[in-house]
Amino acid sequence: MKLLLPTSTAGSLPKPSWLAEPEKIWSPWALEGEQLLEAKRDALRVSLQEQQHAGIDIVSDGEQTRQHFVTTFIEHLDGVDFEKRETVKIRNRYDASVPSVVAAVSRPKSVFVDDAKFLRQQTDQPIKWALPGPMTMIDTLYDGHYKSREKLAWEFAKILNQEAKELEAAGVDIIQFDEPAFNVFFDDVNDWGIATLERAIEGLKCETAVHICYGYGIKANTDWKKTLGSEWREYEKAFPKLQQSKIDIISLECQNSRVPMDLIELIRGKKVMVGAIDVATNTIETAEEVADTLRKALQFVDADKLYPATNCGMAPLSRQVARGKLAALSAGAQIVRQELTA
Ligand SMILES: [Zn+2]
Repeated sequence: MKLLLPTSTAGSLPKPSWLAEPEKIWSPWALEGEQLLEAKRDALRVSLQEQQHAGIDIVSDGEQTRQHFVTTFIEHLDGVDFEKRETVKIRNRYDASVPSVVAAVSRPKSVFVDDAKFLRQQTDQPIKWALPGPMTMIDTLYDGHYKSREKLAWEFAKILNQEAKELEAAGVDIIQFDEPAFNVFFDDVNDWGIATLERAIEGLKCETAVHICYGYGIKANTDWKKTLGSEWREYEKAFPKLQQSKIDIISLECQNSRVPMDLIELIRGKKVMVGAIDVATNTIETAEEVADTLRKALQFVDADKLYPATNCGMAPLSRQVARGKLAALSAGAQIVRQELTA
């Protein structure tokens, strides 16, 4: 990427109300059958256009065709029974009724590849595609088959690798794995979490990213954040091993966050997607606030490796707020770009 400070989002963007109930996650679709398929594609086009109007450099599908960043992928796999539900605690934080692994898991056919091809047809800009990471996938399921988190993670890593290779062939420039679970299960991250992620990117020639955040701006997450104290040092646990890993880009939450910025020093050498937009508030950042966060990050990331982004997905926000935040991200990046080239 030749452009300095290329902007992007962590992934999801709000869905139009004609597609799904707005401002919530796991929102039910408003249509069905052929109409739903067509509406998802239309929403993808609108979402792309809004990113382009805001001046976002690396664009995505805004996750318009999926209900949820983890479950939609899992729905397409064999070996998981969505009727057989059990209650588990997601990321040690909140109870959720989740599907069960009942047999060996496999991917009978590609999940997002047609959507990625469709996005590729719509734009010549670099595109980024998000997939759930292996550890976050197992955390959103009840496993009655493998009865080992690690074993199941390795199986998912193989499946993700198949999908990622097809996404690469479809013209995706950056494949991102969402691993909010990396901020919770530190021992597992270092024992096998990062290793399974490397299995998922095996043989890829496109760029790869891992997104680690403190979650959507929903109550369960904001309540959890209140228990984390004055300094959030969770990233410190995974960073040394991630710095040594084959992952190219690390996507982080920085805006309005209690993460000490100097932790980024631990991943020096990696490209860093710095979250400069808070997704847990409806207040739209000013361009100057975004610029300020980017300037702070520049103390620990080389300018050619800094990628301004959002803290997390914006699916639960209103479209109007999300548009404002995208524009602020773009304008803030532009301020710092000018400073760097002056
Ligand atoms: Zn996130």
